[in-house]
Amino acid sequence: MKFEKSIIKIGLEKKLIAKYGKKLLEGSNFEIYDALSQTIMEELGDYWRATKDIYSDGREAFYFSAEYLMGRAFSNNLINLGVYDGVKELLEELDIDINNVESAEADAGLGNGGLGRLAACFIESMATLNLPGTGYGIRYKFGMFRQQFEDGFQVEYPDNWLKNGDPWSLRKDRESIEIKFSDKESVIAVPYDTPIIGYKTNNINTLRLWQAEAIGELNLKKFNEQNYVEALREKNEAENISRVLYPNDDTDEGKKLRLKQQYFFTSASLQDIIKRFKLKRGADFSKLPDFISIQLNDTHPVVAIPELMRILVDVEGLLWNDAWQIVQNTFAYTNHTILSEALEKWYTELFKEVLPRIYNIIIKIHIKFQELLEDKYPKDLAKRKRMAIIDEETKLIHMAWIAIYGSYTVNGVAELHTDILKNTELKDWYDLYPERFQNKTNGVTQRRWLLKSNPELSSLIIELIGKDWITDLSELKKLEKYITDKNILNRFLDIKNIKKEQLAKFIKENTGIVVDINSIFDVQVKRLHEYKRQILNIFHIMNLYNRIKEDPSIKVTPKTYIFGAKAASGYFRAKGIIKLINEVAKTVNNDIDVDERIKVVFIENYNISPAELIFPAADISEQISTAGKEASGTGNMKFMMNGAPTLGTLDGANVEIVQEAGLENNFIFGMNVQDIIELKKSGYDPSIVMKETQGLEKVMKQLVDGTYNDGGTGMFKELYDSLLVGTSWHSPDHYFVLQDFEDYRKVRESIDTAFEDRLGWAKKAWMNISNAGKFTSDRTIKQYAKEIWKIEGKKI
Ligand SMILES: *Cc1c(COP(=O)(O)O)cnc(C)c1O
Repeated sequence: MKFEKSIIKIGLEKKLIAKYGKKLLEGSNFEIYDALSQTIMEELGDYWRATKDIYSDGREAFYFSAEYLMGRAFSNNLINLGVYDGVKELLEELDIDINNVESAEADAGLGNGGLGRLAACFIESMATLNLPGTGYGIRYKFGMFRQQFEDGFQVEYPDNWLKNGDPWSLRKDRESIEIKFSDKESVIAVPYDTPIIGYKTNNINTLRLWQAEAIGELNLKKFNEQNYVEALREKNEAENISRVLYPNDDTDEGKKLRLKQQYFFTSASLQDIIKRFKLKRGADFSKLPDFISIQLNDTHPVVAIPELMRILVDVEGLLWNDAWQIVQNTFAYTNHTILSEALEKWYTELFKEVLPRIYNIIIKIHIKFQELLEDKYPKDLAKRKRMAIIDEETKLIHMAWIAIYGSYTVNGVAELHTDILKNTELKDWYDLYPERFQNKTNGVTQRRWLLKSNPELSSLIIELIGKDWITDLSELKKLEKYITDKNILNRFLDIKNIKKEQLAKFIKENTGIVVDINSIFDVQVKRLHEYKRQILNIFHIMNLYNRIKEDPSIKVTPKTYIFGAKAASGYFRAKGIIKLINEVAKTVNNDIDVDERIKVVFIENYNISPAELIFPAADISEQISTAGKEASGTGNMKFMMNGAPTLGTLDGANVEIVQEAGLENNFIFGMNVQDIIELKKSGYDPSIVMKETQGLEKVMKQLVDGTYNDGGTGMFKELYDSLLVGTSWHSPDHYFVLQDFEDYRKVRESIDTAFEDRLGWAKKAWMNISNAGKFTSDRTIKQYAKEIWKIEGKKI
């Protein structure tokens, strides 16, 4: 694809005048963004169509995900198309700053965090690798809520990202599909297609998101009977289905509307796939698994398994066993978590009410599976109960079990995670189906997380090793030979300072806090969850602050502690941690004894766009989850490729990061998985640990003695109790915060010393960059393509 500046200029002019009645120099930033994006969209059309055609000629993969955390499309698309510099020049001639145009775009925040961002990185990698892969999901009207702090408390506001329209999607009315929940209830799924533009390829892949609408904009019959209210009620109820993204990360909501969403998008996607399969290849469904592979991103789309059974048996008239054979050879399942509260289960009553036919199909799947187990384990009743798809006692349907039984592969998302699945969490299943289990360590796309977000570092890398790393990240290894080159290391440090300055400016504008760019930028950004242990981080800061108060003259390496995190709206304890961090920040930032040596900054509304500013500016990447709890993490990888060593536990992909970059270039602390198993066995008493750890009891007391004010909500007392008393659902200090505190403090002290040796520090950072090759989503996607989907790249 080749874009002439002149053609883009003409397109821009035409769109501005047609849509906004404005001349070139009169357009607002948003109008210019919109007109430019539409111009690019028109230029893409032929390539997009050609890609669809060649993909449908052969085997294809479909990625089913309830979430896609895409962020902004504009700059990324321009970069991947190779026209960013041209457009930038064009805008400069008009005296317009491309950064302002870029900022006019709303983030497409159709995901909670890591899982949704993974889906976004994956489809970008598929496009770059020319792989026949299509994403399917939901076009939520409101994405992830906008977070605001009011008096230090998180307050949620709706994210109306479509308010001004979305130039990057095309509505395909004629490809709409009817979704029947029951005999009484149907809605229409309208597809919106977004082009997924790979790096310097003519192929254009597709993300198809479904929007729910009522059958007939208004129910005309009722309308004619003058029953306005009833007609509008139906419209509203239909639209509710794709109205809002559930703001839950690693918790199971179990709500009716959520189940409807899941069925809505998987049924629409499957009907779409089957319709096209029949058009192309007729009705021999035994060939379906030869041409189609469907990846289930966690359990959210698992209702697709009984839904495909319904389509094959009820609609297409296949025999049950033949259909099940096809289903089992079509689906592949990715597990993302071992947290028990995150494993999706549905009450049979609710399921039956929302999806009566699918419920019956699940009962049959359950019975068939019990027969299989009786055959296999005639004497082991306990095992058969553990593995039951419908738990007869609790009346819960276990979605993960349907997924494993109904798929040809099951994968974890980092080596440690997959090992835990095989040996502990899914051991019964691994014993039954060992050949199904695989590992696919997560990755992130370097096009967004390095090339786009850190152009300064990218230029240096290009100068040293050329551009091949943009599509082959293992090339970064060639940087390692510069490890003794002081000039290069100093240039890296200069670039880090530039990125820190840019972030400092953003922090000043958004929080009013002035931070010192010579201080260590110590960053923890990710969803707020107890297992991620933001509380360990803030406890350390509280302790350090106490030590400064006791002796204001102690030596402290200046530090800026940066947090970014949203808490699920109903997660009281997580919200308590947010309030605590904000209270500590207020105290520390305004105390003259601290003398500006430590600052605590909580960046509001963490999402993709701020993330792109944050990762390149970090000196330290905080990855301090309780060992065994973080399946992989992907934030850790973004930090690594931007030259921030990991301060972390041996958890998730941290293990592999350290394997690649060297233990000596990262800061590992705390218990590992085995240590935790042993400590649990021998009995863990957090109150003893608290008393025996210097300064820890004081920090704990400060939660409840009024030092920090939770506004009378009882939040801080609740945090205190969760660590020392426990609750009906958790033992005290379930995540071993107090146990790991001392080791965490020690390793942080070693960071201070290491940071002061500037060149030594640069070497550590450089080793992380040089060895980040493994963590590209291109590598992950190539493995999915080869080992699960059996697809190959093909170019138009
Ligand atoms: C990468 C990313 C995440 C995932 O971060 P983890 O540290 O792996 O949990 C979450 N949110 C955003 C906006 C991200 O970019």
